[in-house]
Amino acid sequence: MNLLASITHLKCPRCRKGNLFTKRGLFSYTQILDMEKECPHCKLNYELEPGFWLGALWASYPLILILEVPFLIGVLMSDKSPLIFIGFMFLSMLLFLPMLLRLGRSIWIHVQVKYEGLSY
Ligand SMILES: [Zn+2]
Repeated sequence: MNLLASITHLKCPRCRKGNLFTKRGLFSYTQILDMEKECPHCKLNYELEPGFWLGALWASYPLILILEVPFLIGVLMSDKSPLIFIGFMFLSMLLFLPMLLRLGRSIWIHVQVKYEGLSY
């Protein structure tokens, strides 16, 4: 499994086999941030230090920009009411929030932990 697949499939960054989250999938709307304590395969402790997941907010920030900037451009370029675009921004955030939070955490831990696939 390559790096991009490991990130999007929410796999352990070290072995790319164990799952990061207890409930699988990018669009899980319950238990969104419930994670395994450690990788069931290579036993990597996922919380590398106290407060480790705060950094994931920075990883999800560009994803939020990619999602919402087209609506902001729509507000500026269109003669329609800005409330329509703001409404779509709100709806898109509700729809994509689990994906954004989970991908943010997955990207963050993949940046921090090196792949050691052949060792496991
Ligand atoms: Zn692992």
